[in-house]
Parts: sequence; structure tokens; C-alpha cells
Amino acid sequence: MKFLRDFNLKDKKVLVRVDFNVPLGDDLEVDSSEDWRIEATLPSIKYLLDQGAKIILLTHLGRPNGQVVENLRLDPVAKRLEELLDRKIIKLDNCCGQEVEDRVSQIKAGEIILLENLRFYPEEKNNDNKFAKQLASYGEIYVNDAFGVAHRAHASLVGIPKYLPSCAGLLLEKEMTVLSNVLDKPKRPLTAIIGGVKISTKIKVIKRFLKEADDVLLGGALANTVLAAKGIAVGRSLIEEGMVEETQKLELTDIKLHLPVDAIASADPSGKRDSRIAPISNTNEKEMILDIGPDTNELFKLIISQSKTIIWNGPMGLIEVDKFVQGSKKIAQAVADNDGYSVVGGGDSIVLIEKMGLFDKIDHISTGGGSMLQFLAGDKLPGIEALK
Ligand code: ADP
Ligand code: MG
Repeated sequence: MKFLRDFNLKDKKVLVRVDFNVPLGDDLEVDSSEDWRIEATLPSIKYLLDQGAKIILLTHLGRPNGQVVENLRLDPVAKRLEELLDRKIIKLDNCCGQEVEDRVSQIKAGEIILLENLRFYPEEKNNDNKFAKQLASYGEIYVNDAFGVAHRAHASLVGIPKYLPSCAGLLLEKEMTVLSNVLDKPKRPLTAIIGGVKISTKIKVIKRFLKEADDVLLGGALANTVLAAKGIAVGRSLIEEGMVEETQKLELTDIKLHLPVDAIASADPSGKRDSRIAPISNTNEKEMILDIGPDTNELFKLIISQSKTIIWNGPMGLIEVDKFVQGSKKIAQAVADNDGYSVVGGGDSIVLIEKMGLFDKIDHISTGGGSMLQFLAGDKLPGIEALK
């Protein structure tokens, strides 16, 4: 695989696939607390500017399902990038067509063009060859700096590199290095904290860490499924019924595996009615487990404080409700306070970190959710394979 430093980029038209899939507010603006995906690509963009390249950026935004959705145009993203770089961004309203071809062919060194939302075209997700070839024709070199979508086999990720000399951008390179190091040569003890909803999307990573890590802490709805698999009563808690059998195949008695020992349980997930601290296995049939309890917090905090490397993906409870976000907050604080090396990934976990003002206390915030999980599970990512 090649990297940015392997190319002479001066005066070259460089197509850069980035992941600017940021949430837009009701005012259709990008909030500065939610622009970390854009910020993460600044090193590559600045490097390309320093080298005198002509930059053409490609990204998707949201789920327009292959058609133009006015509210998902990239103008707010261009505006935010302009603010961050203090530099004009030439935002075009299409990805193909005469206007695009004309403007791109006149691009000068130091200029930055942002094409329109790739997912306005069904060809993007369908990995259409003609579409990829068309996009490739705008540039001389292709750079993938979109780790967040590296697990997708879309035209802009796996199609374009068939037609151009290609490499990984600085962000993609950093993600691969950091995540490989966590698996291959972590300072020990290595602790993995996995929460969130779906065990189906995370079971492979849990298995991998039961092999590679020293401790695996499970929380969130995903832990409910594990508790159910162990035959523990979980009341009306959110679980993945269909995954109970698969979960039973995990090494559930492994001493590395730490499950919640108590919970915040309530019959009402809105947080308006009573909740209580319930020992695990004491949840009644009307209640749901909505957060980890204080004893679990202490146990997890102790393990975290003794770790030299920590990787965290997925919250410990129903973080959208104030009453049930406390466990996740305490874990976030403990991870931030740890002096070892910390990695956090997953959209919801990162938003929590950001809201708590702990962003700078984490050594690496991964821009990948699904892609990080696949990478850590040892699966091949199409966007990365395409560069090889
Ligand atoms: P991430 O985006 O960090 O990877 P996930 O998307 O997997 O995390 O999971 C985040 C979601 O999990 C949040 O919406 C949170 O409310 C939910 N969640 C976590 N624990 C519970 C629980 N016990 N009951 C219901 N929802 C939960
Ligand atoms: Mg999520």
C-alpha cells in the first residue's frame, strides 16, 4: 500500500475521498461540537496544500437513497471547512456533468473543490464502474482518507482506485497504525470496554478481545443479551433475542470477561417514573436494565485505572436520558483520567466524550464505528484492500 509521502503531488489533481458525514442541525449548519470528522481530515488537506496539489474532495452525507435531497446538500459542510481552513472552498452542485468537468479541468494549485453529495447518485452505493471511471477522470492521484466508510464497497472507495494511482491519506494511515498497535503490541494490561445496543455487530470483536485483551468489560443493552444468555433474568430489558444462542457459544465463564453486577432498573425508559439500583438477577418482569449500577461502576473503574491500554466502543446505558447516562459518564471520566493509551470509537460514545469536554484527554478518537469494529475483528475492509 502507498501513502501520501510516496507521491510527488506538486501541481497534481488529487481526488480525496473524505468522510464528512456530520450531523446537520435544524438550521442546516454544522455545529462546532460535531465537526470532528471534518477536523480529522485537516492534516491530509493541509499536507496536500503544502505540497502544491490541486484538491478535489469527495464525500457522502446522510442517506439520500440515490436521489437529490435538498437538505443533504454539502453547502453547510463546505462552509464549516472554509472556517476551519480559513480558505475558500469551491463547492459544486453535482458530481458529474459539464459544469463539473469544466471547473475541475481549470483547477489551480492550492484550490479546493468539493463535489456534491456522492449518495445523490445510486451508482455510488451500487459500485457502478462507469460512475467510478467518471470520477477518476477528474484526477491524477486518488487518496482515501475516509476510514469511517472503509468497510463499504462503494464506487468512490473501491471503484476509483482501479483507474488511478492510489494511496491512503494521513487519517486512514493513522487509524490503521493505532488500531493495529492496540492488537499487536499494546502496553499491558489491555482493557476493552464494549457497550451499545447490538451484540450482533460486536460479537466478533468481543471474541477477538477475549483472546487478545487482559480484561473485557461489557455494558449497555449488549450486556443484557449476555446476561440473558447466562440465564439471568433481565425483565423487559432491550436484548437481541436472535443472538442469545450465538452468545452462549462465547467463553462466558472466562475470568477476563466482566459483566455488570448491578444495574439502574426502571419500568419507564423515559426516566419520568421511579428507577432503582438493582443487583443483577434481581430485575423484575416489569423492569428494564437501563444503565450500569454503582458497584459495576466501581469495579469497571478499578480495572480501567490499572490498564495501560484501553479501547472503548459503545455506551453503558440509555445515554439519551439523563437518568441513565451517569454510568457511561463515569466510565468516560475514568478512561480520560487514565495515564495509559486510550482509544474511543463509535458515534454515540464520541458524542458523549465531546459533550463532557474530554475530547483532548483521549489519545485517539477513531472516526470509524462499523469500520473500526471490522478492523479490530480482523476482517478485511474493501476500501483498504482496494489500495493494495
Ligand atoms: P456507538 O455509536 O458508540 O458505537 P451504539 O450505536 O452501539 O454505540 O449504541 C448506542 C446506543 O445504545 C445509545 O442510543 C444508547 O441509548 C443505547 N443503549 C445502551 N445501553 C442501553 C440499554 N441498557 N437500554 C437501551 N438502550 C441502550
Ligand atoms: Mg451508534
